Amino acid sequence: MERTSRDLIIAIDGHSSTGKSTYAKLIAKELGYVYVDSGAMYRAVTLYCMEHGLFDQTDEPEAGEVNAHLEHLYITFRRNPETGVNETCINGRVVEQEIRSMAVSDHVSYISTLPDVRTQMVELQREIGQDGGVVMDGRDIGTVVYPHAHIKIFMTARPDVRAERRRKELEGKGIDEDFEKVKRNIMERDRIDSGRATSPLKQAEDAVLLDNSEMTIAGQMSWFYETFGKRLKAHGEED
Ligand code: C5P
Repeated sequence: MERTSRDLIIAIDGHSSTGKSTYAKLIAKELGYVYVDSGAMYRAVTLYCMEHGLFDQTDEPEAGEVNAHLEHLYITFRRNPETGVNETCINGRVVEQEIRSMAVSDHVSYISTLPDVRTQMVELQREIGQDGGVVMDGRDIGTVVYPHAHIKIFMTARPDVRAERRRKELEGKGIDEDFEKVKRNIMERDRIDSGRATSPLKQAEDAVLLDNSEMTIAGQMSWFYETFGKRLKAHGEED
C-alpha cells in the first residue's frame, strides 16, 4: 500500500489579518488536505447573537444569554458547487458574506472570551479534524484544540502591513473601509484575544514563528517546505 502523510494535523495560529487563511488554504490544497477556518465558527456565533438582538443595548451581553442562543445554533460548512469554496452556514443558511462584516469583527473577540462558547467550538473543531489530513487556522489550535499537532506555525506581521492587507481584502469584497479604522479593529482584537483568561492567543512552545511582513505567498510556501519538508516526508515514511 502506498504510504502517505494524509493524517497529519497542521495548526496555524497567529495575530489578526496575517494571512493565515490564505496560507492555510494553499497548504491544504497542495497536500490534498481539508482546510478548517475556526475563526468562521466564532464569527457565526457572533452573527447569530447580533441577529437576536443581544448587542442592541450592550457591547458585552451576558454569558447566560449567549449560552441560551448557542443551544439553537448549528454551525456547518458546505462546499459551494459553483466556486468550490467552503461556506459557513448557521442552521443550514449560508452566512459566509455576513460573518466577514466589520460589525461582526467588532464583536467577535468579546464572544470568543466566553468559556462555554469556546468549549462548544473546540468540540466541533476536534470532531472535524479527528481523522487528520487537516489544516486548521485560528488562535488556540496549537495550544488547546490540537496540542499534539504535527506541525505548528505562529504567524505575525507588522500592524501597518496587516491593516493594509485587510483593507484591500475588504475592498475586493466591495466594502470600503478607512485604513485607521481597520487597523484599530485589528489591534483591539489582538489585545482582547491575547489577554483573555480562557485559551489566550499565544505562540505554542513548539510552534515555528513566521513573520511574513516582507514575504510573498510564494515565499511563504517555499519557507513551509524548507522548514517542514523533512517532517512531512518522515511522517509518510513512518506510516
Ligand atoms: O480568524 P478570524 O480573524 O476570522 O477570527 C475572528 C476572531 O475569532 C478572532 O479575532 C478571535 O477573537 C476569535 N477566534 C478565537 N479562536 C480561534 C479562532 C478565532 O478566539 N481559534
